[in-house]
Amino acid sequence: MAREGVAEAPLLARIHDHGRIGATDRGGVCRIALTDADKAGRDQLVAWMRELGLQVQIDQIGNIFGTRPGLSPDAAPVMTGSHIDTVATGGRYDGIYGVMAGLEVARWLNERKVQTQRPLVVAAFTNEEGVRFMPDMMGSLVYAGGYPLQQALDTVGTDGARLGDELHRIGYAGELPCGAIRPHAFIELHIEQGPVLEAEGLTIGAVEDLQGISWQEITITGQSNHAGTTPMHLRRDAGYCAAAIAVFVRGLAQRYGGSQVATVGVIDLQPNLINVIAARATLTVDLRNTDEATLQRAEGELAAYLAQLALEQGVEIAAKPLARFEPVQFDQRLVRCIEASAASRQLPQRRMTSGAGHDAQMMARICPAAMIFVPSQGGISHNPREHTAPAELTQGANVLLDVLRGLCDEG
Ligand SMILES: [Zn+2]
Repeated sequence: MAREGVAEAPLLARIHDHGRIGATDRGGVCRIALTDADKAGRDQLVAWMRELGLQVQIDQIGNIFGTRPGLSPDAAPVMTGSHIDTVATGGRYDGIYGVMAGLEVARWLNERKVQTQRPLVVAAFTNEEGVRFMPDMMGSLVYAGGYPLQQALDTVGTDGARLGDELHRIGYAGELPCGAIRPHAFIELHIEQGPVLEAEGLTIGAVEDLQGISWQEITITGQSNHAGTTPMHLRRDAGYCAAAIAVFVRGLAQRYGGSQVATVGVIDLQPNLINVIAARATLTVDLRNTDEATLQRAEGELAAYLAQLALEQGVEIAAKPLARFEPVQFDQRLVRCIEASAASRQLPQRRMTSGAGHDAQMMARICPAAMIFVPSQGGISHNPREHTAPAELTQGANVLLDVLRGLCDEG
């Protein structure tokens, strides 16, 4: 039996039309938060919200909310959404897909004159990517009360611009207090940005948890010296120590197993010359686990190793935390709603963990939340080659439709 669902063509048209804003020559999108391209993307979103009859509100951190009224106007609304900013080398689906699918759900309800009990809100959160202004997921984090509004507004970007000034400049310094709309539930539809669904031939991921993230910057200070004349036992080699740390965290992840991953993504050596022992090394360590106690154990082991290494090698090692988010358990009841929809539509599915951060993890602080994933071809994301098959985009939107409809009519 064919189930009713959102129309594929308008969903794809929205994604592709919106992808022209900030389009790069390789088929990608560059719409970094609070730039002119982001403003143009926001303006288009707001115009589409108004076309659908949604009531548009902007909050003090620039988050955009489009509300479709319910029969019980005072009931807490059901919220869906994601972000519309991108990284510099972004693709056409990360973030925008979830927002556009939310619009298509609103259109579906409008066309059938469906009146839901609870209002439905489609949200686009400011600065999810954190490219220009740190931290990432800022709009939803501030909204959920996890970061002070004033501190966010005073954030200075990589180009020296102040976030609050940029919000004013592009016309998105709104008046709605952050957190004013308290959702009954929040559902985010997003591309997986990883290879799991495609590799297993599945269409829907019911995301039940999200990895905690620990980012540190480690600076090692040794002594630069001649690579030929300095005996090995007399070296204070910052480059060697950086390499040893990279090997240590890889071994740690292998020993822990499970969801533990560990990455050294940046190593910067000074003076970075072939025949000079490095005097200084700066590296980053990214540790992730779905279990907070285990993540803390990994951080503790790393700290102990750094102390031991400093002593052994005669160097100074300093670790600076860059970002820290605890793992998130999504709402089990919502995860089951997603599974039930996928099952009723006979879509192959699995439960999964998100290895990336998302706005839903911030919203989970203030309401029940969960996520729906669809496959990313080749697991590629933050790349112009980011791709999801049209049928899979539509199926994900249909699961979103089912789940939102059910939640909107809950007492
Ligand atoms: Zn995203």
